[in-house]
Amino acid sequence: MTKYVRFSPNRNAWPTVPDGSPLVRYGIVEGDTIYETDSLWSREKTEEYGLANVRLLPPCWPSKIVCVGRNYAAHAKELGNPAPAEPLIFYKPVSSLIASGDSIVYPPLSREVNFEGELGLVIGRQARNVSEQEAADYIYGFTIVNDVTARDLQKKDGQWARAKGFDTFCPAGPWIVPRSEVKSDRLRIRTWVDGALKQDGSMGDMIFSPGVIIAYVAQFLTLEPGDLIATGTPPGVGPLEPGNTVRVEIEGIGALENSVIQG
Ligand code: MG
Repeated sequence: MTKYVRFSPNRNAWPTVPDGSPLVRYGIVEGDTIYETDSLWSREKTEEYGLANVRLLPPCWPSKIVCVGRNYAAHAKELGNPAPAEPLIFYKPVSSLIASGDSIVYPPLSREVNFEGELGLVIGRQARNVSEQEAADYIYGFTIVNDVTARDLQKKDGQWARAKGFDTFCPAGPWIVPRSEVKSDRLRIRTWVDGALKQDGSMGDMIFSPGVIIAYVAQFLTLEPGDLIATGTPPGVGPLEPGNTVRVEIEGIGALENSVIQG
């Protein structure tokens, strides 16, 4: 399994460093080592770094983070919502991205912050007006996303920009596994909080598959290489509190782990 990462040799780098910054490097993880490459898409290895000596960054630098709400019928139901007839799209700002190992900051503006473990799609080629059949070819690889949500503000605001958009509310990573190396379309998605299993779903239970989502989104906007799509969360969402550690694991991809601190 190839694991593509973005990282900085400076351990104090801020997570939202854009591509093009001299702080940003790309690499392939093998065991405890990162082999630097010259782009996110390259397999040409150059310098070598100890994984423990660098700072992982979010695995891609998207022009936009496109998210799908209520894409699992059982999750829609647990929050008292009907299953949608077509994909329900919203966005998270790029400023909400953090990497695995970074802290989710619990904002004083909310009293009800939830985790949502999700499969993330990373776009590899520009996509606009693509068919559902060919849409999967535009996926470069898979990663893991925690669509952290201030549930109280989501209900209060009526739209989701604030509830979904706080700084640190989009942990993603730790890496990207290329689509060509993922053979199943029923990957198991699990979320733990402090070691207690909270979500145990399968991407096979999505209402709208990755191909359907991409074709739908690419009808109204242009997806660019590096764009990130969060595909919705299985049932079992629940609260996070300062001091918790939340871990989202997707079979065959890896585990995204973040602690929660009070803001
Ligand atoms: Mg979600």
